[in-house]
Amino acid sequence: MDSYGWRFVLLLLAVVVTSATGRDLRTRFATQLNGDELREMVGSAAALRHEAFVPAKRHDNSDYNSNDYNNNYFNRDFKHFDNSLLIRDNGAALVALSLHNLLVPRVSGSEANANVRNHIVTVFKALQWSVEIDAFDSETPHGKLPFANIVATKNSNAKHKLVLAAHYDSKFFDGKDFIGATDSAIPCAILIAIAHAINPLLEAQDLLARTTVQFIFFDGEEAFVNWSATDSLYGSRHLAEKWETLAADGSTIPSFSSSTKSSQSSNKKKSILKSIDAFILLDLLGDPTSTFINLNSKTTWIWERLVNIEQRLASLQLLSPQKSELVNVQNEVAYFVPGISTFGSQAIDDDHRPFRDRGVPIVHVIAVPFPKTWHTLNDDSDHVNPNTASDLARIFTVLVVEYLGLLV
Ligand SMILES: [Zn+2]
Repeated sequence: MDSYGWRFVLLLLAVVVTSATGRDLRTRFATQLNGDELREMVGSAAALRHEAFVPAKRHDNSDYNSNDYNNNYFNRDFKHFDNSLLIRDNGAALVALSLHNLLVPRVSGSEANANVRNHIVTVFKALQWSVEIDAFDSETPHGKLPFANIVATKNSNAKHKLVLAAHYDSKFFDGKDFIGATDSAIPCAILIAIAHAINPLLEAQDLLARTTVQFIFFDGEEAFVNWSATDSLYGSRHLAEKWETLAADGSTIPSFSSSTKSSQSSNKKKSILKSIDAFILLDLLGDPTSTFINLNSKTTWIWERLVNIEQRLASLQLLSPQKSELVNVQNEVAYFVPGISTFGSQAIDDDHRPFRDRGVPIVHVIAVPFPKTWHTLNDDSDHVNPNTASDLARIFTVLVVEYLGLLV
C-alpha cells in the first residue's frame, strides 16, 4: 500500500465522516445471528481465541509471551506438529502455527516466500478447499522474478463469491529483516482463522449453494524500489487482468471495459470477475490503536454490517475486554467507524485497485491512519496485539457466516 495522498487524508480525517445512508442493512445478508448463536459461533471456534494470535519471537524462545499454550506450540516445526494437540485445539493451534510461519521476511521471488506460500497451501488443502496457484513471471527493478498468488475456494461450483484477500509477500529491505507483521502477516493469519472457524459450517452447506467464500493471498503487493504503476501490486494486477477475460469453465470471453456495461448482457458467459459479489481487502491490521473508515460508498451495506457486528459482539462481551468496554461504556468505536469517508476509494492505493477499476465492488479494510510502524523494522511481533487480531477475526467470521447464511 502506498502513502500518496496520505497527508491529505490525515488533514481531512476529523471532518469527513458523514452519516450512514439508512439503507436496510439486512437485505443482502442471508441471516443475522442472535446473541446465543454469536456466543456459540465464537465459543466453538478455537481459531478465534485470542491465544491463537499471540506471535512467537523468532530468535529468543525464552522471551515468549509466556503461558503454557504458547510454549507448547511455538517451538514446534509444522512438519512435526503433534496430531493429538492439533485435534484438541483445532483451529487455534493452526492459526498460531500459521502466524509463526508467516512472521518471517518473505520477499517475492525468495525461498522464504515460497515456504510461506507452501504453508498457506498446506493449511487450505488440509481443510479440503480447492487451491489454485496463479504463477507468473514479471519484470521488476530487480530483474525478472517469479510470483504466485494463492486462490482458495471451498465450493468452486458456486456461481457467486464473497472474496476476502490479503498479501503474503513482505517488503524488500536491503540487508535487513523486515517482518511486516501488520503488512500483512496478521491479515493472512486472520484469513486462515476465518477459514478454520467456518469450515465445519461450509462442509454442512448444500453443495448447490448459490454463494461461497474465496480467499486470495496475493504475492508481489510491495514495490521493490519506489511505488509506481509498474513497481507494485504485481499479483493483483495479474489476477484481475486474467479473470476479466476468463470464465469459470476456463474458456475465454471478450474483454470489455467496466464503463460499457451494456455489452455485458450480450455475453452469455460471465467472467470470473463478475462472479465476485464483493472483494474485501485486509491490510495493515494488528496495531491495537487502529480504526478503519469506509472508503467505498458502493459497499456501505457491508460496512454498516461490520459496524453492527462490532456492536453486537461488544454488547455480548465477545470482543477483547478493553474494546468491549470502549463500545459499551464509552460509546466509542472499537474498530469500524460508521458512515462514509469522503476520501474515496482512490485515496489509498492497494491490491483492490485492479479489481475496482474493472467494476468489482470493494471493501478496503486498512488502518487509517497507517500504523506508526508502517514500513519500518518495528512492524514486527512486538508491535501487534493478539486481541486486535482475534477481535477482527471474530468480526469477519460473523460477517461471512451471516452473508452466506451458514447457521450455527
Ligand atoms: Zn507495505
